[in-house]
Amino acid sequence: MDLENHVEKILWTEQQISHRVSELASEIIQDFTPQNNAPAFVGVATGAFLFLADLVRKIQLPISVDFIRADSYGLGTVSNGNPRIPFDLKVDVQGKHVILVEDIVDTGNTLSCLIDHIKSKGASSISVCTLLDKPARRKVHFELVGKGKYYCGFECPDYFVVGYGMDFAELYRNLPYIEVADKAIHSAIAGTLRSETFCNMRKQ
Ligand code: 5GP
Ligand code: MG
Ligand code: MG
Repeated sequence: MDLENHVEKILWTEQQISHRVSELASEIIQDFTPQNNAPAFVGVATGAFLFLADLVRKIQLPISVDFIRADSYGLGTVSNGNPRIPFDLKVDVQGKHVILVEDIVDTGNTLSCLIDHIKSKGASSISVCTLLDKPARRKVHFELVGKGKYYCGFECPDYFVVGYGMDFAELYRNLPYIEVADKAIHSAIAGTLRSETFCNMRKQ
């Protein structure tokens, strides 16, 4: 895909996302029966908020839903390799099956850190359900816990993407589809534009 010729290339439409989220929900329901201790869904804030909301509405099991925050990016686009957890779980996950819900797995730093953290709270299994996975950028291998499984919506090409929860500098999370960050954003990433400038450019 040539970014020059696809300035605002939509990778997944609202309909495609909705269809895939339903498929992921069905997979999860098959793996977790109510007798089998219904899982705790943990969304990684903020990026997973739309995916988590759409996913859990399709799970007809007595689940709990919570958020955790891991900050590794700040306002930039590259994980700094050492995520902090400024916002921790409210739900007690001791002895529970946890499903960590992510927008996108990139280097793997965030998940690796969160899995260690949740494991230390005594979760009996830890699964990961991510809408997107960018395998080309993986730096850190993470291990699921117990009988945890890896659920993934789509493989993402190696571009910075925005929409459906994913931001650039806290903007564009509310787009209902996922697109490659446009030229203006790429210029801003290179540090050549101030944020107000690229917002205005994008509206033109
Ligand atoms: P990791 O720690 O795996 O490198 O990064 C994980 C987090 O970085 C993701 O959960 C997501 O919030 C953010 N991230 C990674 N790649 C992208 C991307 O292409 N676009 C956006 N908006 N965020 C990303
Ligand atoms: Mg995320
Ligand atoms: Mg972000």
